[in-house]
Amino acid sequence: MKTLSAVLVELNKPLELWELEIPALAAGQVLVEVAFSGVCHTQVLEARGRRGQDRFLPHNLGHEGSGVVREVGPGVRKVKVGERVVLSWLKGSGADVPGVTYRCEGKVVNAGAVTTFNRLAVVSENRLTVLPAGLDMRLAMLLGCALPTGLGSVMNTAVARPGESCAVIGCGGVGLCAVMGAAVSGCHPLIAVDLIDAKLEVAKALGATATINAGRQDVAAGLAELCPGGLDVAIEVTGRPEAMRTALEAVRQRGGRAVIVGNAPFGSEVAIDPKQFNQGKRLLGTWGGDSDPDRDFPRFARLLADGRLKAEVLLGQSYALSQVNAALDDLEAGRVVRPVIDMAMAG
Ligand SMILES: [Zn+2]
Repeated sequence: MKTLSAVLVELNKPLELWELEIPALAAGQVLVEVAFSGVCHTQVLEARGRRGQDRFLPHNLGHEGSGVVREVGPGVRKVKVGERVVLSWLKGSGADVPGVTYRCEGKVVNAGAVTTFNRLAVVSENRLTVLPAGLDMRLAMLLGCALPTGLGSVMNTAVARPGESCAVIGCGGVGLCAVMGAAVSGCHPLIAVDLIDAKLEVAKALGATATINAGRQDVAAGLAELCPGGLDVAIEVTGRPEAMRTALEAVRQRGGRAVIVGNAPFGSEVAIDPKQFNQGKRLLGTWGGDSDPDRDFPRFARLLADGRLKAEVLLGQSYALSQVNAALDDLEAGRVVRPVIDMAMAG
């Protein structure tokens, strides 16, 4: 059996479409027919070589998707053939199988425990979660990365409480999910910061009560004006070291939490005044919003099904798998919030 797949062959070059031979499933592996894949900045960083050396080339990409189980390997109990699943880079229960190798005309193509830029993907059992009935597959795709990372950064990492102030710095896909997380957590004021007005408008539609355009206004001054005592919570989702610094500076003394979600380019450093630690500010990192797929995906799915998370506004343009390079370019240029690769689209 073969599958069409977008492969990163060389850093800083467009992905290439290759027909990969699918290996026999090992224990703990599952063959999934991918329906939708998201594209996030991690793939832009990988493809552009901004995560440093890449010893896995050529390799597959993509870590957020939805699909249908087509075959299960020995020992798999979490999912059954025909079930609809979320594919996520976050680890849940089940076998943890580190990676898979495909072949294409004698060449070896590496893939991690989960990839989604392919029609059929061999996925480790623990990167799959069964989708609740009735949830739209296109929307459910966001449970793979953007939603758990963004919602979790507010709900699990910062543990924002109703009435606490919150700023989200960077309103891409994950940032807008953080805005939604702050809105359902009852944060007020809820301040969205970005360089692009269109994204700030979306943030407002999702519950932001104030916005700052970082291209026209000084962010630190704007936040201080809206929240004179300092913010309870600041979520950084830009990957820019200066924004990380701003997030920590903007939170209040004695208990303000700055959560760093953004992926900075390889080799970056952040300069911060250490006095802030003595003031009781907390600087928190997060691994995918500290979301546990088995516990949190059903919880987030209920909020989606109930309409309390308007995640459909994140879903931008759809692309065929063959248009994956345009999707990466559009994401990098900020022309689309979350590109959707629709495997059913021809082209
Ligand atoms: Zn991602």
